[in-house]
Amino acid sequence: MPPIAKTPSIRIRTATEYDARPDGQYVLYWMTAYRRLESNFALQRAVELAIAWNKPLIVLEGLRIGYRWASDRFHRFILDGMLDNQQTAASLPITYLAYIEPEKGDGGSLVETLAKEACITVTDDFPCFFHPKLYGSIVKRWHCAVELVDSNGILPVRNTDRTFTVAHSYRRYMQKEIARESPAFPHKDPFRNVELPKLKKLPEAITKRWKFLSQRELETYDLSKLEIDHSVPPASSRGGRNEGLRLLREFAKIKLEDYEQARNEPDQYGSSSLSAHLHFGHVSAHEVFQAIVSSVSGWSFADISKPNGKMNGFWNLGVNAEAFMDQLMTWREIGFNMCVQEANYDRYESLPAWAQKTLNDHAADKRPYVYSLEEFESARTHDTLWNAAQRQLVLEGRIHNYLRMLWGKKILHWSQTPREALDIMIQLNNKYALDGRDPNSYSGIFWVLGRYDRAWGPEREVFGKIRYMTSESTRSKFSVKGYLQRYSDGTSSSQAAIKKVKKP
Ligand SMILES: Cc1cc2nc3c(=O)[nH]c(=O)nc-3n(C[C@H](O)[C@H](O)[C@H](O)COP(=O)(O)OP(=O)(O)OC[C@H]3O[C@@H](n4cnc5c(N)ncnc54)[C@H](O)[C@@H]3O)c2cc1C
Repeated sequence: MPPIAKTPSIRIRTATEYDARPDGQYVLYWMTAYRRLESNFALQRAVELAIAWNKPLIVLEGLRIGYRWASDRFHRFILDGMLDNQQTAASLPITYLAYIEPEKGDGGSLVETLAKEACITVTDDFPCFFHPKLYGSIVKRWHCAVELVDSNGILPVRNTDRTFTVAHSYRRYMQKEIARESPAFPHKDPFRNVELPKLKKLPEAITKRWKFLSQRELETYDLSKLEIDHSVPPASSRGGRNEGLRLLREFAKIKLEDYEQARNEPDQYGSSSLSAHLHFGHVSAHEVFQAIVSSVSGWSFADISKPNGKMNGFWNLGVNAEAFMDQLMTWREIGFNMCVQEANYDRYESLPAWAQKTLNDHAADKRPYVYSLEEFESARTHDTLWNAAQRQLVLEGRIHNYLRMLWGKKILHWSQTPREALDIMIQLNNKYALDGRDPNSYSGIFWVLGRYDRAWGPEREVFGKIRYMTSESTRSKFSVKGYLQRYSDGTSSSQAAIKKVKKP
């Protein structure tokens, strides 16, 4: 078991110049990204402060409407999580407030009004999408203390000021850090043996203007009245902590033992399916790590090998768990590193110079097919496998792990320019994928264009030295029959989903 201690200072940043006011009415935890009441450094920090000042703790879980790609799909997934959190909160010494913004901007003034009466506001330091700007613009206006706390991954995101441009250098760094010192983990239950005074009532300035949702209201919430995109319907997979933990248990118990081979097979779903729950913070990377290492009885940090930067052998967990750890510890965390270090992580200019040069050298090459965003979106290309992957994305909010790479590579191949391909990938991935709008989204999409990769030969039309993939080789390497049947345009669910795709 890794050490459990106070929230490490390297994970805490102050966001304003104001000191905390121990005479405030309560401590406020504004939950925006790590949507869980366990295994969460930001919540843990808020509990520590509430204990130190003997104050009530308010946990505000909010849901905005004014962000790009807000839709029924993402709202439903987050609402599922609010339901779970509200149930859990009932037995905790906190005031939990579930809030859905009815109109743009309403949520910002709610948090500001709550923060005014607080000793301090603690919130989540998620380095991607609208979050950094939100903290920057909202919090700048406030005249009170605010802390941003990093509960993103196993290594603190501000452990280094280096930007890693290839996976093997990040892997080497990560292994060295782990070997130097076992990372601190958040408390599974930060309320264990904790007693806090209960808030008698919310300030009147709050209750007069804002409404918080009961369990029943969350269950029956009518999304149609909100100004969000209703053309992207809820996915069939359930959101929330209970479902995230169920998937994690199922993966560790059943799927992990065949992960290395099965995760790439389109006809099997051999991976964990945890990315959406990790993205919305319904489960933590620490919990996932713990579940994987617990699959090897008696494993501890003392069992790791000397760092060697290799994908296999460092953790001494066996081939399947090692392969999974590489996704969780290298590929997931390198994306957070990029978002923290590079403000332009989502811009074409952030691609490595060699990739920009080779794409530019081939900018004038004739494309074998050119499709518009609308044609891609409605799965109207000549390629049945590509169309099936796009249909899965629209219908289920996910694409099979291996086919997602092919999906991106073909958008590059069949777009007018690489910049247009980038815009199309970002738009489709972030509009439909439950796990979109995440550091991993930008890692995956930019990987298609050369980030974290090297130059490959032979140099080809359109791609230049960028790694190339084809549907034909995918079909010859893997069995895709079941996948094609499931997401062919003949199935009623596929047709219904694609019909709903609005013209952009
Ligand atoms: C074009 C493209 C777009 C992508 N967009 C996203 C996205 O929006 N969100 C997202 O989470 N992932 C994205 N990925 C990465 C990868 O496809 C998904 O993380 C993976 O398919 C999620 O399924 P899983 O949870 O079953 O993965 P598992 O194989 O079970 O992996 C466990 C966890 O490790 C992390 N992980 C796995 N593979 C990768 C990877 N290649 N890069 C970074 N982290 C990884 C994820 O957090 C994942 O949940 C994208 C990849 C490509 C090529």
